[in-house]
Amino acid sequence: MNRGEYVGRFAPSPTGPLHFGSLVAAAGSFWDARARGGQWRVRIEDVDGPRSVPGAGDGILRTLEAFGLEWDGPVVWQHQRTDAYRGALEELASQGMAYPCACSRKDLEGAPLARDGARIYSGRCRDGLPPGGRPRAWRFRVPTGLFGFLDAVQGPVRENVEKEVGDFILLRADGCFAYQLAVVLDDAAAGVTHVVRGADLLESTPRQVALQASLGLVEPIFAHLPVVLNEQGEKLSKQTRAPAVDLRQPASVLTEVLAFLGQKPPAGLASGTVKAVHEWVLEHWALERVPRQRGLPWQSPISGVGLRSR
Ligand code: GLU
Repeated sequence: MNRGEYVGRFAPSPTGPLHFGSLVAAAGSFWDARARGGQWRVRIEDVDGPRSVPGAGDGILRTLEAFGLEWDGPVVWQHQRTDAYRGALEELASQGMAYPCACSRKDLEGAPLARDGARIYSGRCRDGLPPGGRPRAWRFRVPTGLFGFLDAVQGPVRENVEKEVGDFILLRADGCFAYQLAVVLDDAAAGVTHVVRGADLLESTPRQVALQASLGLVEPIFAHLPVVLNEQGEKLSKQTRAPAVDLRQPASVLTEVLAFLGQKPPAGLASGTVKAVHEWVLEHWALERVPRQRGLPWQSPISGVGLRSR
């Protein structure tokens, strides 16, 4: 494959330091891109202003550098992309594919839960605001039918988004554009061809495929890597108090990531250089070896690295 035919990316939310779980997504997407001669871009997903932590984006970038995860082109920050999001929302609205919604959280109480724990939207404002209703948010009028894709790791995935999720939010009541809209527009603008990320986002993907179809955007190839689970079986995250990755032994941490992803790093790689790890991966990376699982426990053999809680 020629350089330029594959464009991958890593798109962290700046909510805290990179932990072992987010490093898996970063390195997995980087290696898949580089092993196929592709580009790899970085986007800081600070669209959710209230959840973004000042300085966390820069901290993530410094951590990527420490692990030799060198990106192509400028880093994109979502807060600079608001005009593009607004333009797309206006386009959808002009085609009747987005509509204002007056529902408050209270109005949605009692609706059945979607797989991700959010309320399935009843469509209350689909045909117009209720009398006296004030537009708070904007929703996507989800087309009927199934939206599916063939995930390069997890296999076929499909969902009736209209029934199982309902019309989802594009612009939130607090004025922030929603992740679902931002991610498809940003990936398209960057020419992303391959989205390699954690399987926690698998539930969002049919929504994104539906949006891509309605916006006339090219659907990338998706590969969802297993997420890292702690000893309690919870996904590593800020909420589960996952520690920041240890920067003192980067080659050894990267070797752990390789092992987690089902690759077979030789003994000795862990005690070498970061450069040597990446060189080994260029020759040996095999996406088909990544376990076809949505989550996997991982116990770090290295003291202090990986999963130990603070
Ligand atoms: N910003 C999202 C996260 O950190 C990832 C988005 C994506 O890779 O599509 O969970």
